[in-house]
Amino acid sequence: MSPQNDSFYKSLLEKTFNGLVFKVEGSLFSILIAGDEFLRLTGVSREELLGKTLAEVPGGLFHAATTATFETILKDKQPAEIQSFSMHPQGGHFTVQATASVTPILDEAGDVGCLLYSATITDGGLMQLIDQAPFGMGILRGKELVVESVNTMLLELWGKSEAIVGLPLAKALPEFQGQRILKLLEDVYTWGEPLVGNEVQAMLVRNGNLENAYFNFVHQPIKDQTGHTNGVMIVAAEVTQLVQVKKKLEESVANFQNVVMNTHYGLLVVKGKTWTVEIANQPMLDLWGKAKNEVMGKPLMKIFPEFIGQPFPEHIREVFETGKSFVQPEDVFYYQSKDGVAKKYVSYFYDPMLNADGNVYGVIVGAEDITTRVENRLKTERAEEMLRIAIESANLGTWHFDPKVKRLVVSNRLKELFGYMPYEEMTFETFVKQITDEYRPIVIQEFRNSIANGEHFNVDFSILGYQDRNIRWMRATGKIYRDQLGVPLRISGILMEITEHKQDEIRKNDFIAMVSHELKTPLTSLKAYVQLLNMKAKISGDLFTVKSLGKVEGQVNKMNNMIRSFLDLSRLEAGKIYLEQEEFTIDKLVAEIVEEVMLTDKSHTILFSNCKPFIIYGDRDKIGQVVNNLVGNAIKYSRPNTTVTIRCEASEGMVQISIKDEGIGIAKEDQSKLFGRFYRIQNQELKTVSGFGIGLYLSAEIIKLHHGEIWVESEEGQGAVFHFTLPLAST
Ligand code: ADP
Repeated sequence: MSPQNDSFYKSLLEKTFNGLVFKVEGSLFSILIAGDEFLRLTGVSREELLGKTLAEVPGGLFHAATTATFETILKDKQPAEIQSFSMHPQGGHFTVQATASVTPILDEAGDVGCLLYSATITDGGLMQLIDQAPFGMGILRGKELVVESVNTMLLELWGKSEAIVGLPLAKALPEFQGQRILKLLEDVYTWGEPLVGNEVQAMLVRNGNLENAYFNFVHQPIKDQTGHTNGVMIVAAEVTQLVQVKKKLEESVANFQNVVMNTHYGLLVVKGKTWTVEIANQPMLDLWGKAKNEVMGKPLMKIFPEFIGQPFPEHIREVFETGKSFVQPEDVFYYQSKDGVAKKYVSYFYDPMLNADGNVYGVIVGAEDITTRVENRLKTERAEEMLRIAIESANLGTWHFDPKVKRLVVSNRLKELFGYMPYEEMTFETFVKQITDEYRPIVIQEFRNSIANGEHFNVDFSILGYQDRNIRWMRATGKIYRDQLGVPLRISGILMEITEHKQDEIRKNDFIAMVSHELKTPLTSLKAYVQLLNMKAKISGDLFTVKSLGKVEGQVNKMNNMIRSFLDLSRLEAGKIYLEQEEFTIDKLVAEIVEEVMLTDKSHTILFSNCKPFIIYGDRDKIGQVVNNLVGNAIKYSRPNTTVTIRCEASEGMVQISIKDEGIGIAKEDQSKLFGRFYRIQNQELKTVSGFGIGLYLSAEIIKLHHGEIWVESEEGQGAVFHFTLPLAST
């Protein structure tokens, strides 16, 4: 045969012959050709077979007596059969029963040149099927549960190789020691009862890791003809992933339940056409005023027949029909309480629950009882409305000022007062411009004080109308509002026109000024005549007249002081009080006044000593007026034969004068008001004491003009101490 022909026949045989061709050389049999079908059947590759002798072929493929049979054929030159033997194809992890026939081919010399070996599986086709099965199958034999057969899948599930075939289970899977699964298998063998396991846990070493796995299985006892159990068949499928998913699902359901039940928000789940209540948490039950057993598993409209006619059922129906959520931030909810129909305010939402097909099978209802919040808001709204009406009817303007961005927001009435058309814009800048020059710094200072010290905003000022350019007087009051950190948010307030009031005041001031002025001239000549007469009486030695005229002069001085106060007051109001400043020593001034007072008033002791000659730069006359006032009050408001003590001291560039009396004292609530215009304390005791309530007001204004301070310390019935400070002249 030519080599070409040789390979042709060889491949023909490979394709068609289901066995092997052995070449015979002496008593050696080596494989010459291996048929495709034989390879498929046994799972062995061609390379593993070609050129190999019987002994060299992977174990388990041939009957142990094959060599002996071959040798017999060499002699007999007759075909022979090898009866039923166990074959372990596919690498040997399962067993099939096979028979083989061997046919000799004689060469030209009549000797056996080749042997045709063909094997047939008599029992085991099923096993092959089983091996390919998508679930694990295996047979354990004997009390030791020796692994007799396992399919590929079971090996995979166990994470083992076919090397475990032939080993007792405890050796094949040492990690099974002490596990429940081993005990279950042993029990099946012992009791001969099948066992179906569902999601049974087993720890397995797979890929070098000890893994937690779950299996569904059937363990079936295998019995011989006598009914005696001699093995266990395993059919198993791994369900680890399924169990894990299930566990996760259970966890998330538990979490969901937890969230639903523990949230402060009312939550409810209704399902199906009847809107059956499946879940309702405590806040929801509280909102409804119902107990759990009154609602669970019941159709919603059965629980709340009173819902008919209210908007809720319609919205729920819509969510079921459209699958779209519905949110209602505020609504009224009427329900039947124990005391009849009750009302609550609620904020709620309806969310659809969709199944895998996208159909709505339920609705989640979230609801919050906002009754308190809404009622409080309504109360505030009502109060605001009342305030608005009050403001409007009083013709007041309102304003808000944001200090951060210097933005002014004003009401239309305020715009009108400032001479704007309603469509014209009024900004903080135009507002500031409209204030007349003398008041602009005062108003700006008021804003600053309010922001820096949180003082109430309160200022009178004049403005120039935006369009009409008329002068108008305004009074603005306001209050600062801050956030939790104390950062100023805005100053809000009202504004009223006080032009008429101001004009009245101006007229009144002018009148007082005029009257005071007119009174001053006759009084001056009166005083001159009194002094003249006094001199004459002294010369003539008429002591009685001297004394009387002395008293007259004292009274004239008092009147003069009063008139001067009125003049000062009107000047102050008109902003026309001026200081005539010079340097002088304060101790001398006080001493002069004390001396003067003591001339006319002998009823009190006035103590003034040890005052250093502190030098002041200021209006000597006006400071004198202040001291006069305070000493005068100390005498006026204390009983005769008591003492008035005057002290002076200096520190930190200021001199402080204190006038202390032992008089009636001043109640705390009056102390801050004393320095206001026309303020007089009203009580029985003081009814007979004359005065106008302007002395302290003027004193305070004068001290303020000198950049000093004035205040009082007192308790009712305990006397009073008035203090004022003045800056020392810089040397
Ligand atoms: P007048 O004394 O003219 O009423 P003032 O402005 O000087 O006005 O004082 C205002 C008020 O303060 C007085 O009416 C009096 O009630 C109270 N007052 C002033 N000084 C004293 C004092 N030394 N002791 C008690 N009360 C005083």
